[in-house]
Amino acid sequence: MPFYDPDKIEILIDGPTIAQRVAELGAQISADYRDVGGDLVVVAVLKGSFLFLADLVRAIDLPIEVDFLGLSSYGSSEETSGVVQVTQDLTRPVKDKHVLVVEDIVDTGLTMQYLLDNLATRRPASIKVASLLHKPARTRVEVPVHYLGFEIPDRFVVGYGLDYVSKLRNLPFIGVNVGEGPPYPA
Ligand code: 5GP
Repeated sequence: MPFYDPDKIEILIDGPTIAQRVAELGAQISADYRDVGGDLVVVAVLKGSFLFLADLVRAIDLPIEVDFLGLSSYGSSEETSGVVQVTQDLTRPVKDKHVLVVEDIVDTGLTMQYLLDNLATRRPASIKVASLLHKPARTRVEVPVHYLGFEIPDRFVVGYGLDYVSKLRNLPFIGVNVGEGPPYPA
């Protein structure tokens, strides 16, 4: 038995499909920023984006900087509260730099809207968004996603960085919890 219960996790996007798409996004980002001039800082939103970040930055063929922003909007429930809390701030100013925000998923859009407003006050040269996933059915505010991995249906997904009550971020694919109870052995 693996560390998760395969009967309770349905694979939505498998590892090779994720890898292929992340490579495409990296190539696109490299081409778009190659001749822009100035510094590019990739700002990863913790915790859910950490695997996407790790794979994406290695697919970007440019001398980027990386920084982290901790945000929490969910608590331990599956429904967004709309209240966003900064749990860890950037370590360096982004003034006059090109900022590429890397997020795991844009669901209602509330977290990203908060983040974009917050970053704009720091006067970067530009701001763009890369999100691995987007659930269009749940949109409450429209936010720009310049580099999107996959559109997904309105299901709660886990794995490849995304958690099930803090666990299963280490699944190498994106899955959906099916059936009763937690998708891992007690
Ligand atoms: P939003 O503010 O767009 O509604 O939600 C953004 C955050 O909610 C994401 O960064 C992520 O942490 C969490 N979230 C939204 N949908 C899901 C999901 O299907 N699975 C998991 N694990 N987290 C989600």
